[in-house]
Amino acid sequence: MPRVSSTSPEPAKGESLLTGLYIVATPIGNLSDITLRAIDVLSQCDRIACEDTRVTGKLLKHLGISKPLQRYDDHASDSVRDRLIEQMGHEAIALVSDAGTPLVSDPGFDLVRRARAAGIAVTAIPGACAAIAGLTVSGLPSDRFLFAGFLPVKEKARGEMLAELAAVRAALIFYESGPRLVKSLKAIGEVLPGRDVAVARELTKLHEECRTGSAQDLAEHYTAHPPKGEIVLLVGPPQAVQASPQDADDMLRDALASMKTSQAAAHVAKATGLDRKALYNRAMELKSQ
Ligand code: SAM
Repeated sequence: MPRVSSTSPEPAKGESLLTGLYIVATPIGNLSDITLRAIDVLSQCDRIACEDTRVTGKLLKHLGISKPLQRYDDHASDSVRDRLIEQMGHEAIALVSDAGTPLVSDPGFDLVRRARAAGIAVTAIPGACAAIAGLTVSGLPSDRFLFAGFLPVKEKARGEMLAELAAVRAALIFYESGPRLVKSLKAIGEVLPGRDVAVARELTKLHEECRTGSAQDLAEHYTAHPPKGEIVLLVGPPQAVQASPQDADDMLRDALASMKTSQAAAHVAKATGLDRKALYNRAMELKSQ
């Protein structure tokens, strides 16, 4: 782990921003989604590290900003990374990816880790992120979610990853591409049957859509209408287990062995979806037997 660092950055060369690394989110489609703070940092920094200089060059042109660009990804040579870390000691360096929030299925993790280990201040300039935008429009439960990046391309690995996630009691979020969407939906239908699924496509763009249903229905739809553009694929959490009265009694007895009555009732209610008050009353009966 990087050592714990307490940093006190100096003003950068331009004196308008403090030295260090700024993680700047950029739009995922609609250019108006750039934040005011992102524009300030991109205007005032000394240098911008980016995935693709052509993509970032276009955004900067749109914003009327001209800055030195340094191509950077997590496969960059040690010399490029070391030079950036050295420059952060006396410059303000912004890191951007092609779209959205750096480090979220995008480069930056290694740079941030090394910058922190070197005692350099790292500042988030948050903004658009396709995973979060997809979750917010999907209508799936958003209180707990797990972002799992891209599903593996190979069928066996894809099935294994879905099986590994099957027990997670949270909405699952994946990034996906048009040509692979139907295969992924079919795999979800097989490995995670009965779940609610959402396909959020071309978010913030002209042809934005969010289609929901079962994995099978969505697979049929997108087989008939091959999807274009960028996609976030979301899977609802597993339904609470169907518990018979006997199951509920067993679970209550187990829970009562280590919990107070109210805690045991709440625990079993959460696991089964049964009414907490009824479970509490039943737990009191079981205790008195
Ligand atoms: N870092 C980015 C972010 O914060 O969203 C994600 C980068 S990842 C390399 C690119 C993937 O994000 C795409 O393949 C797609 O799955 C998803 N994505 C990006 N923009 C999107 C959009 N406008 N609508 C739906 N999905 C999008």
